Amino acid sequence: MDIAKKIEALRKELSQHNYNYYVLDTPEISDYEFDIKLKELQALEAEHPEFYDANSPTVRVGGMVTKNFETVMHEHRMYSLDNSYSKEDLEEWEKRIQRILGDVEVSFTCELKYDGASMSLTYENGTLIKAVTRGDGFQGDDVTNNVKTIRSVPLKLKGNYPPKFAIRGEIILPLEGFAKMNQARIEAGEEPYMNPRNTASGSLKLQDSAEVSKRPLECLLYNITGENLGISSQFESLQKAKEWGFKVPEVAKLCKTTAEVMDFVNYWDVHRHELPYEIDGVVVKVNSFQHQEELGYTAKAPRWAMAYKFKAEQVATSLESITYQVGRTGAITPVANLQPVLLAGTTVKRASLHNADQIEKLDIREGDSVFVEKGGEIIPKIVGVDFSKRAPEATPHHYITNCPECDTELIRNEGEAQHYCPNTYGCPPQITGRIQHFISRKAMDIEGLGGETVELLFKEGLIENYADLYTLKKEDIIPLERMAEKSAENLVLGVEKSKEIPFERVLFALGIRYVGETVAKKLARAYKSIDALMQATAEELVQVDEIGIRIAESVVEFFQNEKNKIIIERLKSYGLQLEISAELLENITDTFKGQTFVVSGVFEKVSRNELKKLIEDNGGKVASSISSKTTYLVAGDKMGPSKREKAEKLGVTMISEDDFLKML
Ligand code: AMP
Ligand code: ZN
Repeated sequence: MDIAKKIEALRKELSQHNYNYYVLDTPEISDYEFDIKLKELQALEAEHPEFYDANSPTVRVGGMVTKNFETVMHEHRMYSLDNSYSKEDLEEWEKRIQRILGDVEVSFTCELKYDGASMSLTYENGTLIKAVTRGDGFQGDDVTNNVKTIRSVPLKLKGNYPPKFAIRGEIILPLEGFAKMNQARIEAGEEPYMNPRNTASGSLKLQDSAEVSKRPLECLLYNITGENLGISSQFESLQKAKEWGFKVPEVAKLCKTTAEVMDFVNYWDVHRHELPYEIDGVVVKVNSFQHQEELGYTAKAPRWAMAYKFKAEQVATSLESITYQVGRTGAITPVANLQPVLLAGTTVKRASLHNADQIEKLDIREGDSVFVEKGGEIIPKIVGVDFSKRAPEATPHHYITNCPECDTELIRNEGEAQHYCPNTYGCPPQITGRIQHFISRKAMDIEGLGGETVELLFKEGLIENYADLYTLKKEDIIPLERMAEKSAENLVLGVEKSKEIPFERVLFALGIRYVGETVAKKLARAYKSIDALMQATAEELVQVDEIGIRIAESVVEFFQNEKNKIIIERLKSYGLQLEISAELLENITDTFKGQTFVVSGVFEKVSRNELKKLIEDNGGKVASSISSKTTYLVAGDKMGPSKREKAEKLGVTMISEDDFLKML
């Protein structure tokens, strides 16, 4: 047999055995036989590099090293899920859906909510080409090399698959594998890992994929995304994914009524501990894609899906003390320091108390025995006090009146729950917090400079604000603790490089209260330069889409401040980007100013995302559902009939993709 054919045959055979073992759970040969064949293939591939294949079964053992995980945009956004906690919540949701969809029969697919790290896999012509973490939903980290070592992720697909699609799932660490990993660590004298979820997501970011390969990770799939998939429902897509070789848990169920959904929920709430992996709830999805399409999305989550979260685990422990933290905006956060206690697999030492009202409402006192709960958030919260255990000498807690860092008297604005330290320019954590925000990844992304170094530079009197970063010299930095020639050089280089960061991110980096990433983008596009923005009055600012009076006033106040004016003049003189780039300027117009679009269906010439971007770049607004405020409904192929009806009823003009493109 010629070599190419032999290699091909071995690859096929090994892939099939791998599939039998890791997806079907029905191995047909022994591990030993498998290893022999794998070694044979490895040897042949080493001898014949001309037959290299990035998706050969030999990549499962890893060996690729990723130093820096590249950030990549998701072609389709990865949404979060809305949560519900009771039967009433779910019924409420079903009513909402029914109101939108009108008088049609709606069925639901119920799945388990796997507790791991979400992952988006892209396949082209049946081969895995990219694996990206969820990140912030818009962009994530490219962890392809690591994911390829996960045996239940198919590298090549079976059956009849679409030419291109993304499939989303959860990378999990089954409990048994997790326990084994910990056993090995304990034997090696290392600290055991705290919980499977964090270990799974941590594993994806290991640099050496050979290490990842040793971890018993699995990937459970639950969503197929793409255009022209030829699939019409969620339940069908799970079936399809199975046919193509993915691991999809069998327990998913198609339900016709909320009562059936509740049966599924209640069953798994009780039986979840029998599963080989952890789940934290159930996900209920409207089954029909057409219905999903009509329901659309809110800013964060699909309207057609709902997570039902099981009750969080709770423990009692004692509250040793209450201390206070000062954030970069001066906001004060009370922190509960607890007697360490094990909760849902993690040792908890601290919990957030949110604000003064919270402490008062719960009547929490130092020394109390308190109930701690861990929900979805990383920081656990205190949900109540065990009054039966309260010591007779316990006194009500007095919230601080002065800043714990600079002793300035705290203020609390009308209608706000949070106390603030008003000493914006003199309070150390506010000063360093602002600089830390400025250098952070989504802002100026300054390489070679971290939060601790900022604190050190401030303590040593080298910086007092972010403009000072641009005057730092290598010679000033080298003498500092833990600084060497090389790290000082990198820092200066990183600062220099940040001068290329585009205006919208610089604007975000300034740390104006209420101006997050999205608002910064809107303002940058509307005003195009910092000079124009600095001239804007609050009345003018609120004319910009989605800018309310609270944001507008905060922007005006920021730019009226003399200190800020000086800093901005300095940033200008150092050469930062304080206006939008010529390229962007060319592509954005006011064509659709004041107009709201709803985009529905499948398009031919541009993707749905491109279409939305075109609308926004040209000053229009994209909404997800039709209302009397809608100017145009851009109707593509396969648009839901109820959207059409609604548009007709409200007299919204319907236009085609071509009509739209002509408008530009
Ligand atoms: P949350 O992180 O609480 O917003 O919940 C959303 C996350 O649940 C998604 O990003 C998924 O990673 C995860 N998830 C787990 N199981 C499922 C499932 N069956 N369907 C959809 N999402 C799921
Ligand atoms: Zn202060």
